[in-house]
Order: sequence, then C-alpha cells, then structure tokens
Amino acid sequence: MLGYPRIGPRRELKRALEAYWDGRGSRAELEAVGAAIRERTWTRLAELGLEGLPSNTFSLYDQVLDTSVLLGAVPERYQAAEDPYFAMARGTDGLAPLRMTKWFDTNYHYIVPEVGPDTAFELDAAKPLAELRQARELGFETRPVVIGPVTFLLLASALDRLDDVLPCYEELLALLAAEGVTWVQLDEPALVADLTPEELAAVRTAYERLGARSARPGLFVASYFGHLGEALPVLAATPVEAIGVDLVRGGLDGLGALAGKTVVAGVVSGRDVWRTPPERAARLLSAVREQAGRVVVSTSCSLLHVPYDVEAEPDLDSGLKARLAFAEQKVAEVVELAHTGLEDGERVARPRPDTGTLARPDAGPLSGPLSGPLSRPPAEPVVGGGRAPYAVRAAAQAAHLRLPLLPTTTIGSFPQTGELREARAAAVAGRLSAADYERRVEGEIERVIRAQERLGLDVLVHGEPERNDMVQYFAEHLDGFAVTRNGWVQSYGSRCTRPPILHGDVSRPEPITVRWARYARSLTDRPVKGMLTGPVTIVAWSFARDDLPLRDVVFQVADAVREEVRDLEAAGVPIIQVDEPALRELLPLREAARAGYLEWAVAAYRRATSGAGDRTQIHTHLCYSDADQILDAIDGLDADVTTIESARSGARLLGSVGTFERGLGPGVYDIHSPRVPGVDEVERLLRAALRTLPAERVWVNPDCGLKTRTYEQVEAALANMATATRRLRDEL
Ligand code: GLN
Ligand code: ZN
Repeated sequence: MLGYPRIGPRRELKRALEAYWDGRGSRAELEAVGAAIRERTWTRLAELGLEGLPSNTFSLYDQVLDTSVLLGAVPERYQAAEDPYFAMARGTDGLAPLRMTKWFDTNYHYIVPEVGPDTAFELDAAKPLAELRQARELGFETRPVVIGPVTFLLLASALDRLDDVLPCYEELLALLAAEGVTWVQLDEPALVADLTPEELAAVRTAYERLGARSARPGLFVASYFGHLGEALPVLAATPVEAIGVDLVRGGLDGLGALAGKTVVAGVVSGRDVWRTPPERAARLLSAVREQAGRVVVSTSCSLLHVPYDVEAEPDLDSGLKARLAFAEQKVAEVVELAHTGLEDGERVARPRPDTGTLARPDAGPLSGPLSGPLSRPPAEPVVGGGRAPYAVRAAAQAAHLRLPLLPTTTIGSFPQTGELREARAAAVAGRLSAADYERRVEGEIERVIRAQERLGLDVLVHGEPERNDMVQYFAEHLDGFAVTRNGWVQSYGSRCTRPPILHGDVSRPEPITVRWARYARSLTDRPVKGMLTGPVTIVAWSFARDDLPLRDVVFQVADAVREEVRDLEAAGVPIIQVDEPALRELLPLREAARAGYLEWAVAAYRRATSGAGDRTQIHTHLCYSDADQILDAIDGLDADVTTIESARSGARLLGSVGTFERGLGPGVYDIHSPRVPGVDEVERLLRAALRTLPAERVWVNPDCGLKTRTYEQVEAALANMATATRRLRDEL
C-alpha cells in the first residue's frame, strides 16, 4: 500500500503534538510518540502479511512540509525560529505560517511549499534515513516514500526550478542506494490532472535523469486519485521500473504502454470505507497481468484518508460492519488478493500469513447493494426557484435587518472548551442526563451571545456548542448515516475528523438546529444567524455509499437541509448560513469533468436554500477553497452573502472577486493559527477589500469558524477586528 494513517489508533500523535505546542511536553517526548506509532504500524503491517513496507510515510505534521525540509526549501524567515518546522506549519508570534490548502480532491490539507527563484535547494535526508534505520533495527526492510519532484514543484508553482531540484533527488537516490535500499517510492499525484506540454516535458526530464543514475534503488513512481492520461506513455518511456496506477478512479486505458514495467495496481480503494468487491478486483488484476511485466497488488492511494480499524467500532450495526474496510482491513484485502490472484503452481515470496481480521465467516457477501432501505428514485436535479432577484432580496433584507456598513460577524463556531467536550463525553457515556447536557449547551450559548454583544459584533451566532463537528452533528440527526467511535482521519496537523458513513437513503426525522437557534434569539435583540452545513459538504466529509451516483446522494441531503431551512425561518431566524466549504474540494481534477460536477453541486445548494423567503438572508461560507477557480459556481449558489478564506492567501483572491455581485466577507484573519492579528493588519486587509468591492457589499469576519481557538485568542482577535472596522466606518 502507498501510505498509512499516522495519527495513531487512539490519536496518540495528536495528544503529543498538542502537549508539545502547549509546553507540556518536550520535543524528545513528541519524537518518542512518533517512533512508537511507526513501530506499531510496521509490526502490524508485517503481521497482516504485507510484503512491501513503506517508510517515511509518517509525519509530525505534513508530508509536503517534510519534503520542503528534505529539499532545503525552508524560507529564510523561519530559520531562526525556535522550531522552524512548526513555525512554518503554524506560525509563531510575529511570523505567519506558510499557506495551507487541500491535497487534490481530498479533505487532507498540506502546507504549500514556498519556492522562489532564489531558493537554494539542499538535501537534508535526516528524516527518511532515520525512519529507514529505525525500521531496520526492528527487523523490517522498507521502501522510503517521498513526494516526487514534479508534484513538489507543481504544488509550489515553481516547475521552472526543476533543474535545480533534481540534484537533491539524485543525491537522495545515491544515499539510499548506499544504505542498501532496493526501492524508493516517488509520489506523483499531480500527474493525474491535465498537464501542459511543458509539464509533460518536465516529467520526461525528471525521470530520465533520475533513471539514468547508476547507483540507485528501483524507482517506483506512484500516481493516484485518477488516471495518468497523457503522462502514462511519457512515464512509460522513462527508465523507472515501477509505476503505480489508481484502478479505482482511473481504469485500465493505455496500460499496454507499461509492458516492460512493474505495475503497482491500486485495486483496493484508499478513499472509501467499503470492502473491495473481489470479482471486480480480480478482473482488474488479470487485465493488468495481460499487459504488464509484473503486477503488484496495492491500494489506490495512501490509506491516510481512512481510519485505522473497523474492529475498534463496537457500536456499528453488524450488517454494516461486515461491509466495511478501514486501513487494516484494506491491507488484509491487498494481501488476500495477491494470494488468490496466483495461478496454480505459482509461488509466493512468503508463506500465506494468518490474516486474523480477514476471517469473516459470518460477514456475508462482500459486494452487492449496501445495507439500508431500498433507494428512493434519484431526486430530480431541478433548481428550486422561488427567490426574487438579488436586488429585490437585498432591499427587503436591508429594511428588515438594519445593519451598519461593513457588518461584523463570525463564521459560526466559538471555542469548544474542555468543559464542553467533557460534558458531551459524559452525556454520550450516560454519566450526564440529556437535560443536564442541554443546560450546559444553553449556558455556553448565553456566554457566546454575551461575548459577541460585548465585542460589539453586528450579526451574532449561537457558537455551535452542541456540535462535535459540522458534519458529524448533522449525520447523527439524519437517517441514512452511521457514525464511528474511533474512525478518525487526519485533516491537517493534529486535527482529525470522524467522517460519518452514509450507507442508506437520507431523511430528516425531525428539526435539528432549531431549538438552539431559537434559544440564542431569545437572549438578544441583535440579529442571530442560524447555521447549517450544506449538502455537498455533508457528503464530501462523509464516506458516501457508492451504489448510487454521488449527485443523487447529495440531492437527498439537500432535501433534508431544505426542510431545516424552512423550519429555522419559521422560527423567526432572519439570517441562515449554509456552509459549503467542500464545494471546491470535490471539483474533478480534470477540466473535462468540472462543468458537469459544478452544475449539480450548485443545483443541490440551491435546492437546499431556495425555499427561503426574500427577507431571509442566506449566507454561505467557503474555506481554503482556491475560490478563484470556481467563482462562477459560487456566484451560482445565489447566496446573499458569501464569506470566504483570504487571510492566508492574501490579495490573490480579492483580485478575482471584483466581479462578484452580492455580499462578500473576505476573511480578515487566519483562524488556523493561534496568532492574534493586530488592528493594523485587519485594517490593511479591509482596505484591500474596499479597493475591489463597494462598501455596501463588504462584510467583516474571520476566515473560518473559531472552535479550535481559545477564548483568550478569539476575544482579542475579534476586538481588533471590530476596532479596525470602526476606524474604516468613520471614513466612509
Ligand atoms: N460554521 C462552521 C464553523 O464555524 C464552518 C466551519 C468550516 O467552514 N469548516 O465551525
Ligand atoms: Zn471555513
């Protein structure tokens, strides 16, 4: 398999990171936790019978950031920091972190490498070598995994530096060869997108040059998240010995070009939690065998994107559980497929291992329709009309809401305090009664409302204290979803989510958020904004069923959200925000498929929101969305106000939203960093916004929800935001 979860089965790494960051633990203690996670992983993988064990797939924060360090691309300004690695990842006082964005079409976030014309690449192979040696001491030979040069430079928007970075890779190959390493895996997921002729030429140059080295390990170039397309024949013509192809998302086209190569056939999906239908995998494998020199059975991509172990889920329905495979089960599938794929008389390298968890006498069929009721016929993709044009709505809303110029608001969540988490855990465990838990939540709502009043914010939120997570909370209240106890998946750094499992038809048995919104409203005279998660995001951040087209699944969720919008409005909530931060994430990697996706995604959003009356102001929120790529679609959502990340990507975004016709709140500070922005800094960003947009349409807000911050940070930051806003209002 191409990579493995690394946060620890019980999120041990998360706890160690947070202890280190808070000064409760030393760097050595953090490293020790990392070493223990790696040891456990290799040991378990070997027990499962996996033959090719990877190393360097562990990371203290992010594998792309690790690659920046590997290549010496550490910007000067971080070099003097106490801990440059975490300074790049998270910032320090006075030093903003590097930009962070989503890893292709996943919900994993990586730290964007900063490579300029003067970046002096210099190999620092300490990490891959240390992992390699640790594994060796434990008796495991491993295949180091690093991000390949083309993907690294494309992520850094610096492909012109190829000639300068290749010597580092050459040096790395020589070092690894000297260590006796037989294979190295170079990850090149960027090759599954549309590539320009120059980019294809870079692939050719890179792998011809690396392949031409005499002292080097075997080169395994791993592609994933789609089909290699035009890059396939280009790679095939280079001397690399092995090529990894994603046969779950990619398919078999063009594999004939790989005749002389080892094909690492990704037949077990690393992107979902379903067991692999054995007939489908066997069919793919035998098709590959006819075309390729040698076939290695693998996962379609790193297993980073799935939780560790289904066996850690005692609460899941057994019928559903029998259909699930998390990382451990997927590795076992890889091993089993490799063995069953052998013809009589063929030998395997090692005796067939006892793959414990694979035994499933009562698990039922591995494929076929998912559990749950029979599907409703797919919803019709009609755009629910009904709302008046924006100008009419804007006038109705202005009269109703009476907001000042540059209204201030937040994105929804306020800090989730330790007490709140404990209360939730106690309620789940039955140690706290439902009534007592609800009183705690109400107490928290009151605190959030009072804090916002004190800070002088204009549009208040209830703070989302009842939510463990913006998707899981809705999944818990909708039929058709199951939630896990330990199914954590890394999102960025120490942050993990537990994606719910969407396994049946979706419906809303009763209102979900209305009582909390109503309570918040009862506490204040200022307008309160209701807060919902949009249909695309609910599905994107869940593991969706794969027996219905994604579009139909999203439409089912849209109908449930539509009912919630209607009930919030009926409860007198004047503003309703429907977050769609994952809209960009699901954008197909290839241009040809994008328009089709955006059309149904936008239609689903409108179906969810278009039941609202003209006087009800609909907000939407998109975070870290590279929004410039989907501006037309964001426009198509037809929300009255759109709040968007921009603090960390700066003016780049603002330049492209000048055409935007409705309200816009460009995030004025980065909530992903503990750093408190100064008044001047916020003012500068607001001035930049006012140069592009008319003041009547500018909103002032942080760039995302505040739940990961402390009250101390939040109150200081929001106070500065409000001060900067007042300064500007005085001028307007
Ligand atoms: N309303 C959500 C919150 O504030 C939005 C979070 C997000 O965009 N990821 O937490
Ligand atoms: Zn956000």
